Amino acid sequence: MHELSIAEAIVAIADRHAAGRRVTRVDVAVGHLRQVVPPALEFAFALVAEGTAVEGAELVLTEVPATGRCRACGAELPLDAFPFACEACGGLDVEVIAGEELLVESLDLEEEEAAYGC
Ligand SMILES: [Zn+2]
Repeated sequence: MHELSIAEAIVAIADRHAAGRRVTRVDVAVGHLRQVVPPALEFAFALVAEGTAVEGAELVLTEVPATGRCRACGAELPLDAFPFACEACGGLDVEVIAGEELLVESLDLEEEEAAYGC
């Protein structure tokens, strides 16, 4: 289960950053290309968080749309269906510039708010 390993990574980051404080909310940016199923990730998150500082925290997912850049003409385009073809020149040499993210954007801690950037 793909979501379980993602949940483990999120909980590990949040737990480490919390440094013993309780985490009440975790904001995560997930790229569209990760193909995460949000309810499955929320379920896995709750499971993995048990017994850690993150237990009971709210998981807030923000999906990052997939974007590519054509290597031939430099145009940027949304990547929503395979094959990724440039809308401007029709080229197929498109590099992914967004949509593969998996970032813990911020944590809310019980006593103070802390931003986490990576
Ligand atoms: Zn192009």
